[in-house]
Amino acid sequence: MSRIAVIGAGIAGLTVAAELQALGHAVTVFEKSRGPGGRCATRRSVAGPFDHGAPGFEAVTAAFGAQGQDWQRAGWVAADPAAGTDPWIGVPSMNALAQQLASRLSPALSLRAQTHVTALEPGAPAGWRLRLLDGQLDAGHFDAVAVAVPAEQAAALLAPDAALAEALRLTRSEPCWTVMAAWSDAWAAPAAWVATDPTGVLARVHRDDARTGRPALDGIASRWVLHATPRWSADHLDMAPVEVIASMTAALAKLLGVQLAPPVHAAAHGWRYAQVLDARTEPCGWNASLRLGACGDAWHAAGDVAGSRPSGIERAWLSARALARQMSPSLSPG
Ligand SMILES: Cc1cc2nc3c(=O)[nH]c(=O)nc-3n(C[C@H](O)[C@H](O)[C@H](O)COP(=O)(O)OP(=O)(O)OC[C@H]3O[C@@H](n4cnc5c(N)ncnc54)[C@H](O)[C@@H]3O)c2cc1C
Repeated sequence: MSRIAVIGAGIAGLTVAAELQALGHAVTVFEKSRGPGGRCATRRSVAGPFDHGAPGFEAVTAAFGAQGQDWQRAGWVAADPAAGTDPWIGVPSMNALAQQLASRLSPALSLRAQTHVTALEPGAPAGWRLRLLDGQLDAGHFDAVAVAVPAEQAAALLAPDAALAEALRLTRSEPCWTVMAAWSDAWAAPAAWVATDPTGVLARVHRDDARTGRPALDGIASRWVLHATPRWSADHLDMAPVEVIASMTAALAKLLGVQLAPPVHAAAHGWRYAQVLDARTEPCGWNASLRLGACGDAWHAAGDVAGSRPSGIERAWLSARALARQMSPSLSPG
């Protein structure tokens, strides 16, 4: 049995952890946030929950399609008619999918939330120790490490392997300003996803309260999530959230051709690294001599057939499975 540290508890980290644990290894997952999920995120508010990260996902590979069907049978996701192109959504929220994945890991798996890893240091006589944000070395000694965080953040952690770090440093992600807004009056709002905004402000818009499993709240007629285009987000990265909310809700009103009263609740979140622009074609990164690997949505850009490109959640899942398989021969049997 090997002791393995996984850094990041998004879809990729949770998937590689489950695969390695199923092989009999002792896995510890380090996550800097309060809980699992990463960009499969849900924000709680007085106006109800908002899926303000990935709104849903689809499958272009047979393997991930089968996984989606399994999750659907388990009731973790639904093929949502209000989601336009028929992607799956997590139920009752996108974050619930990650929470289900985390909860199904064996109790022996340790998930260390609110633990920010800043560097990997060689252990003695071998293996790895983890340096944490407070400057302390974590007490654990690990035979191998899997880094499952966004490319720009992974590059710094992977410094012990210059080639792996450089590969991820060259990967670029696009930002996304997201507005979560709720209205108390019932204006004529479509339930389904809305087409792209010709003014270039909004990339996609969805009515969160119309989706499968979302709660209805007294006094809230509709809850919306608005994603700005990468260009608009990049041009307004430093804009104050209150101005972002004003600009993006004005764009929504224009898009739908309605007069909007001020929302009863509104918040904005700026994703600096929302979606990977140029994911790598390799399934994952693995250095067998250092026992250091990387997975996540920066990898596995190729689908089953030429020209098919898995999107972020699918790439995260595919690359995590690929990494577990590449790691396996270098680890002591479980
Ligand atoms: C607005 C938006 C819209 C999107 N739309 C879609 C879509 O339509 N379809 C789709 O498939 N995908 C979409 N995505 C992308 C999708 O969410 C991601 O590709 C996928 O969730 C990535 O999973 P991951 O596990 O690789 O990374 P993440 O989900 O980012 O998980 C990484 C985890 O690592 C943690 N972490 C980071 N650094 C450290 C550290 N140093 N120490 C400890 N923990 C750390 C983070 O807190 C995070 O929990 C969207 C994302 C956003 C933000």
